[in-house]
Amino acid sequence: MGTFQMGTFLFFKNKKTKNRNVPDFKKIMKLLLHTCCAPCLIYPLEKLRAKGDSVTALFYNPNVHPFAEYKNRKQAVEDYSRKANLEVIFPEYKPAEYFQAVNTKEYGKERCIACWSIRLKKAAEVAKARGCEAFTTTLLVSPFQDQELLKKIGSDIAKEEGVEFYYEDFRPGFKKAHEEARVKGIYCQKYCGCIYSEIERCRRSAKH
Ligand code: SF4
Repeated sequence: MGTFQMGTFLFFKNKKTKNRNVPDFKKIMKLLLHTCCAPCLIYPLEKLRAKGDSVTALFYNPNVHPFAEYKNRKQAVEDYSRKANLEVIFPEYKPAEYFQAVNTKEYGKERCIACWSIRLKKAAEVAKARGCEAFTTTLLVSPFQDQELLKKIGSDIAKEEGVEFYYEDFRPGFKKAHEEARVKGIYCQKYCGCIYSEIERCRRSAKH
């Protein structure tokens, strides 16, 4: 069965007759892409645009500490998005939003769950306000983030906010995109973002 719906541009896969000329029947969307940093933006943007999505990015990362590090990451996204002709929304930097969310959960997975949740919630809110059909995140490109938890948090927030969470495992593109970033001189951070992850990185390197 091959079906095309006007307006929503939904395609369904013909399982019996695989045709190489037929696109990979994925939904084409107006999509809000939460963006953690420039290197992680490269591959998801390329993949989403390749399937025809209209992408707007959101750089909402109150977890990033200190302010100098935040500015480095923001500048890299500004520079990259200019070249990629990508609109990016930059909400005001308010680290208190991160610390309030994390509060006493500064150790272990609980901290990251709180961190991912506020960022994905903001992405859903902005997606809704901008009339996007879905939101997703560049965090899904990182082998250092918990893919299954991100998927669950995104889906739960999608239900609460009434806007779809687009899930795709972007990890296959991580290595190539980060190599490209290095070659092009795009700023690559040395730790996940928060003060706690910086402390953990310093402790790890002190052991070597
Ligand atoms: S380690 Fe990364 S994901 Fe976890 S709280 Fe810190 S910045 Fe957020």
